[in-house]
Amino acid sequence: MIPMVNLKGQYHDIKEEIDSGLLEALESTQFILGPNVRAFEEEAAAYLGVKHAVGCASGTDALHLGLIAAGVGEGDEVITTPFTFIATAEAILYVGAKPVFVDIDPKTFNIDPEQVAAAITPKTKAIIPVHLFGQPADMGALLALAEKHNLKIVEDCAQSFGADINGMQTGSMGDVGAFSFFPSKNLGCFGDGGLITTNDDKMVEHLRVLRNHGSWKQYHHSELGFNSRLDELQAVILRAKLKRIDQYNDGRRRVGRRYNAALAEMGLTPAYEDGIGKHVYHQYALLADNREEIMVALRAKEIGCAIYYPVPLHQQEVFAESCKGQTLPVTESVAARVMSLPIFPELPDEQVDEILDVIRGVMVG
Ligand SMILES: *Cc1c(COP(=O)(O)O)cnc(C)c1O
Repeated sequence: MIPMVNLKGQYHDIKEEIDSGLLEALESTQFILGPNVRAFEEEAAAYLGVKHAVGCASGTDALHLGLIAAGVGEGDEVITTPFTFIATAEAILYVGAKPVFVDIDPKTFNIDPEQVAAAITPKTKAIIPVHLFGQPADMGALLALAEKHNLKIVEDCAQSFGADINGMQTGSMGDVGAFSFFPSKNLGCFGDGGLITTNDDKMVEHLRVLRNHGSWKQYHHSELGFNSRLDELQAVILRAKLKRIDQYNDGRRRVGRRYNAALAEMGLTPAYEDGIGKHVYHQYALLADNREEIMVALRAKEIGCAIYYPVPLHQQEVFAESCKGQTLPVTESVAARVMSLPIFPELPDEQVDEILDVIRGVMVG
């Protein structure tokens, strides 16, 4: 039996450090915006190479608060990818703006800057690139567009903690970066958690107020805010894992490369590693015309597999009205053929080979 993710191994490796940190936090009883949240914000900002990092309750909230801080609101258009998790688009709707979905690059599965350029209108206020599956989007091209048209960029880094482009971390290049610490992400906690990054001194003040009931001083509220804080106990876990994030991402890259070499030999389309920057393989996604056949064979051997994502956002029921009649051929073709294999830092080479043997069995018939 090989699962898609195995969170237990990672916990057990660092159990002592996490357990003692949690007990200490329990004894301190500083449960809301305590010392571990502050320390994690500083440690994460240093790792990511940004001036500021603000913890919040989830990746979805990080996008939502990030859009507000970037000044996106009612009547604005935000250009984004349809090939992502729904939260990317939810955040746009939460601020009263309109998501405009454009097609993706067939190799990286990330938003295609040429399609973004073609979709810019006088109402466009921002772009949300998603660094999907841990592969950096083409930030150079997007930043050039943003500068030319005076647009904000909110990077969706929910799947890309530790990915970089020439040493620039995802989440450090746009106006705002939004990270998720959902348990299965590259950097995951034991529940929900998120982080917003920015280099802007004004924006960070706004973000701290927004996440804490619009409050700049206790019982003084300057605007409508939210209860969206990173939990102190989650911060303990994140501090322990942040120290090891490079090791975790290296483990994912080891697995990813092993899949890449073997799948290419079988005539399948492996993940594309020669993209714009360093891929950290949040998911391992390949393209196969016969994915149903492969998935049946894997399941028969109790090997995990999944489709991220079977239905692009412009074809979701929630957008039935606003996206009526829209076709995005690259996205639709990818969604019809994409499938994901197990990947996590501790997955041993022997199990990767077992998975590959099952796929080879299908491919050679
Ligand atoms: C997980 C995810 C989110 C949302 O993060 P939560 O912490 O679950 O709210 C947003 N965007 C993408 C691309 C994600 O994968």
